[in-house]
Amino acid sequence: MINYKHEPFTDFSVEENKQAYLEALKKVESQLGADYPLIIGGERITTEEKIVSYNPAKKTEVIGSVSKASKDLAEKAMQEADKAFKSWKKVKPEIRADVLFKAATIIRRRKHEFSAWLTKEAGKPWNEADADTAEAIDFLEYYGRQMLEMKDGRKVESRPNEYNRYDYIPLGIGIVISPWNFPFAIMAGTTVAAVVTGNTVLLKPASTTPVVAYKFIEVLEEAGLPKGVVNFVPGSGAEVGDYLVDHPKTRFISFTGSRDVGLRINERASKLSPGQIWIKRVIAEMGGKDTIVVDKDADLELAAQSIVKSAFGFSGQKCSACSRVVIVKDVYDQVVNRVEELTKSLTIGDPSDNNNFMATVIDSAAFKKISEYIEIGKTEGRLVAGGTADDSVGYFVHPTVFADVDPEARIMKEEIFGPVVAITKADSFEEAIDIANNTEYGLTGAVITNDRMNLEYAREEFHVGNLYFNRGCTGAIVGYQPFGGFNMSGTDSKAGGPDYLTLHMQAKTTSEAF
Ligand code: GLU
Repeated sequence: MINYKHEPFTDFSVEENKQAYLEALKKVESQLGADYPLIIGGERITTEEKIVSYNPAKKTEVIGSVSKASKDLAEKAMQEADKAFKSWKKVKPEIRADVLFKAATIIRRRKHEFSAWLTKEAGKPWNEADADTAEAIDFLEYYGRQMLEMKDGRKVESRPNEYNRYDYIPLGIGIVISPWNFPFAIMAGTTVAAVVTGNTVLLKPASTTPVVAYKFIEVLEEAGLPKGVVNFVPGSGAEVGDYLVDHPKTRFISFTGSRDVGLRINERASKLSPGQIWIKRVIAEMGGKDTIVVDKDADLELAAQSIVKSAFGFSGQKCSACSRVVIVKDVYDQVVNRVEELTKSLTIGDPSDNNNFMATVIDSAAFKKISEYIEIGKTEGRLVAGGTADDSVGYFVHPTVFADVDPEARIMKEEIFGPVVAITKADSFEEAIDIANNTEYGLTGAVITNDRMNLEYAREEFHVGNLYFNRGCTGAIVGYQPFGGFNMSGTDSKAGGPDYLTLHMQAKTTSEAF
C-alpha cells in the first residue's frame, strides 16, 4: 500500500483544538433546520414529504428536513445511475481514485465541521465524532490507493504464442443502504468503495442521519464526481428500499444495519425480477453480540477499562460494542467491582459538552427497545450499575451493568445495541471461550490475559471476524484492522481490508492466441 497512514485523532486537551471544535459547533448550530433536496443525476429535487432529522440529545431540535424519495423518484434515480454507468465505467481508475483523494482533502479541511454535524445529528461525543470523521477520510484514502494497486488486474500465466490477462471490471448499479451509527464513515466508505471501482450508486442513508450524508455528496461533487454517479435518495425502507433491492437493474446491494433487515434484503435480492439477467450480489454487515473474555492471569485494571470503554463508548451503539463479558471465576468479583466503579464514574449528558463521556441513544424507538431489555435484564441478572433512563429532554439511557447472568439468558444472546452489558462467570478459560462462541453472531471479541498459550488457544477457537488481545473490542482502523464478522454478523466481508474492493467488481479473463 502506497504511503497510507490512518488519519490521526484530535487531542481535545489541546486548547486550540477545543476552541476549533466549539467554533465548528457554532457554525453547525447556525445552519440547523435547513431543507435538503434529493440529488438525482445531479439535479436537486425537492419533495413535499420530508424526513425530519432531530438532535437525539434535544429531541425537539431539528437538524434538517430532507426530501423523501418516492418509488417514481427512485426509478428516475435508477435511470440516471444506469446512464452514468455507461461513461463512469470507462473513466480511468486513476481518475476515479483522484476524486476520492480530493474528497479526503476537502473533508480534512472541514474536519471539525463534519464532526460537529455528527455530534448534533447522531449524538456523538467529540472523540467519537472525531473518530467517525477520521474513518471517513481513511476509507477515501485507503480505497483510492487500493484501486491504484488493482487497476492493472492480477498476474496470470501465458504460454508461448498466447497473451492472457486477468482484469477487474465494475459490476453496474449498486444500492448502498447505510447506517446511522457511523453515519459518516460507513456511509462514505460503502459509497466510495462502489464508486472507485467504476460502479454507480443509489445511496439511501439512514433516516435518522441523512443530513451528514447530503453534506458528503456535496463534497464528492466538489471533488469532481460526475453527475449521476452517486444519487442521493433518502426514503423509507419499506417503499424505496424494497423497490430498489427488487429492481432488475440493481446489480449489487451494500448494506450495513441490523440482522433482520440484512436477512430481508438478502432474501429479496435472491428473487429474480422480470428482465433481470444476473444474480445480485449482497454485501452485508450486520449485528454483533461481542464478548470480552477475562482470564485469571490478566491485567485486571486493563480488563475493566476495556470493558467499560467498549460497552459504553457511543452508548454501546456499535456493532462492535462489548455487550457480554465472561470472566474466569478466580478474578470475577474483582473485575465486576472495578467495572461497577468505573461505570458509576462515567459522565452523561449533552454531547456538545466535551466533559460528557456518553450521551444519548439515537431515537425513541431505540430508547424504548433498550429500556425493555433493561427490564428483562432485571429478571435475568444482578443489576450492578445504571438500570435507568430518561427521555424528557433527549434519549438518555444510563450505562447499565448486569452481573451473574446465565450464558443462555436473553440479554446474553440478543443484540441490544445500547449501553447495556451482561457479565457471566466461567470455571476455566476454555469454558469462557465456549460461552463467548455461544451466539449466532461472530463480529468482534477481545481476550484479556497474560497467558501466551491461552492467547493462542483463543486465536484458533474464538470465532469472530475481529479478535483483539489485551485491548477493547471497538475502534477498528481502516487498513490496519479490516472490519467485518462471521455468521449472522454479515457476509464475511472486511471493510477497510485489502480484498474489499473486489466485492464490487468482476474479473474478466482475456486470452489471445497469436
Ligand atoms: N468499525 C467499528 C468499530 O470497530 C464498528 C462499526 C459498526 O458498528 O458498524 O468499532
